[in-house]
Amino acid sequence: MINLLIMGKPGAGKGTQAKKILDYFNLTHISTGDIYREEIRKNTKIGQEAKKYLDQGNLVPDKMTNDIVWEVLKHKKYPNGFMLDGYPRTITQAKALDEMLAMLNIKLTAVINVDVDDDIISDRMSGRRVCSNCGHTYHLEYHPPQILGICDICGHKLIQRPDDLKESVLNRLHIYKEKTQPLLDYYDNKNLLLVIDGENASEEVFQDILDKLGGL
Ligand code: ADP
Ligand code: ZN
Repeated sequence: MINLLIMGKPGAGKGTQAKKILDYFNLTHISTGDIYREEIRKNTKIGQEAKKYLDQGNLVPDKMTNDIVWEVLKHKKYPNGFMLDGYPRTITQAKALDEMLAMLNIKLTAVINVDVDDDIISDRMSGRRVCSNCGHTYHLEYHPPQILGICDICGHKLIQRPDDLKESVLNRLHIYKEKTQPLLDYYDNKNLLLVIDGENASEEVFQDILDKLGGL
């Protein structure tokens, strides 16, 4: 069993690396951002509550997020292990996660931090587009669709996620620094942290992750 956390600023390329790692090790993906977006799409009670926070780039309250993660973890449906993506994002969440894992008698293998400088972040985020129908992501510069504004896969319109708009991105970066960055020390103190240079091409970043995991 391999149980990973993947961390990184918004726009660090965490999603791309998460996908590669998941495929490689056949892990179960637990992404709180995806869970919230799905609840919003289905217009559930949780979705209606969460939308207020997501659209502004604010964090959903810890209690709600912890409950959602516990609901997923407790069923133990991750035969090869899991990758938590976008969780924990606060020290309170990290402590809650420690308790959940202790309860289930599960250990974290490593915490991967995809590290990228701030100026690169805003550049990457402003070009990000997502399919309004299937959710596939593109980048105007680094990964453009074949026809401008149209999804290659399903032909629907590409949009900017509300939380990718400039104000919201700056807000997310600010929150990251204040709330999430302290987790790096938290996991470094537990000897779990792997720092990966996220400014290289994504294939190299992935290779670096495999190398560092192999060295554990
Ligand atoms: P990003 O694109 O920055 O990696 P995610 O897709 O992980 O962001 O999450 C999108 C939004 O969902 C966050 O900005 C926040 O509003 C909400 N969210 C996701 N995970 C959490 C969490 N662990 N705690 C609180 N809010 C969360
Ligand atoms: Zn699509």
